[in-house]
Amino acid sequence: MTRLVLMGPPGVGKGTQARIISEKLGIPAISTGQIFRTNMAQGTELGVVANQYISQGRFVPDSVTNPMVAARLSSPDVAEGFLLDGYPRNLDQAHALRDMLASQDAKLDVVIDINAPHDVLVEHMVHRAQIEGRTDDSPEVFAERLHEYHRKTEPVSTYYADQDLLEVVDGVGTIEEVSGRVFAVLQARTVAV
Ligand code: ADP
Repeated sequence: MTRLVLMGPPGVGKGTQARIISEKLGIPAISTGQIFRTNMAQGTELGVVANQYISQGRFVPDSVTNPMVAARLSSPDVAEGFLLDGYPRNLDQAHALRDMLASQDAKLDVVIDINAPHDVLVEHMVHRAQIEGRTDDSPEVFAERLHEYHRKTEPVSTYYADQDLLEVVDGVGTIEEVSGRVFAVLQARTVAV
């Protein structure tokens, strides 16, 4: 049973690491960004709303995001744990998550915060833009996403550090190097063996 949160700025490679960790630990990776993109591609009501914010590099409102996560965390496949990728992204979401888990008598085990300098993030974004063609991977929108991250998400790191849940991992290097660091941290916390 492992309950994990994966944090880090846009472009740091959270999604890639989330897939690797989720496979190795046998727990579902829940990416709020991916849920929004799937809904946008399907043209659902949620997707139409989410797109108004995502295309500007802004966060989708908590009134939309929190109930969506609450619903996802009550499905049966998360009974053995989960990895949240891209949630919580602000302090209100962190408090909402705490309440969702408390209602199930559950707590987080660890929060992994992957970090990298600005130029590395931009490099990843440019590379991903060529492959995936996400509309929010333009230089202007990416700058706004970084701004939102610094203003709203960094306080979440402090919130978890104060609870001794935070592990900061260097995100510079190959995918294998970074996942090696993540697993070293998980082993030290006896979250993974
Ligand atoms: P990245 O971490 O590279 O920004 P994501 O796929 O996690 O990529 O997120 C893409 C976009 O989806 C964000 O810029 C934001 O607009 C929206 N989003 C994702 N997660 C959340 C969240 N927890 N709260 C609000 N908006 C979110």
